[in-house]
Amino acid sequence: MPQALKIFLVNKAGELSGHFVAASRKACGDRLKGYFEATIRGVARYDTVSIIWDGKASDPVAGDFVCYLLTAPADSIAATKATGDVTLGASGSTLLSLADKAVISEVYLRAIVQGGDPRGNDTTNKEALVANCILHELAHNLLDATTPNVLDVHKVKDGVICRETGDRPLQGTDQPGPADNAAFQAGFTRRAAGVKQYTSGMPG
Ligand SMILES: [Zn+2]
Repeated sequence: MPQALKIFLVNKAGELSGHFVAASRKACGDRLKGYFEATIRGVARYDTVSIIWDGKASDPVAGDFVCYLLTAPADSIAATKATGDVTLGASGSTLLSLADKAVISEVYLRAIVQGGDPRGNDTTNKEALVANCILHELAHNLLDATTPNVLDVHKVKDGVICRETGDRPLQGTDQPGPADNAAFQAGFTRRAAGVKQYTSGMPG
């Protein structure tokens, strides 16, 4: 029986001082839903996509994703779980917690929405840009956060979202294309048991 692909977005940034209110979260989630509806095309295990903002730690099942929306890298959950030195991404990070045997994905809203400045103006297409950054982190989550890697997210040929972002950050005008969708489809096939998600940061 096909299942819904559930994507749990855990908002720990509040309304980001009015810069990412409920309407923005809704727009972001709607866009992300559309993205994933394209990635699951042809994937037998999934039939629909659900974006869930009010999930509890016990809700995710195998094959679901969890992404934490934090204000800033200083709030990083991943950093507290890393073994050894960790370098966080500018707009988000994904890594395996060895202790939890689970993958943590997180994005940093202030960096994405306001250029990292609490007094900064809104980024153009902020809702789309947050969705793009979440999609990028969930690509890491599925494809290269655990070994054996399915593929290196930063080396996807013709990837729009799945690409190196250090020298050229994602933009709100970027949209996933065939190469990004194919990368996810390869991941869904290769990770037949899904990727265990870190849920301890979700409400109990
Ligand atoms: Zn990356």
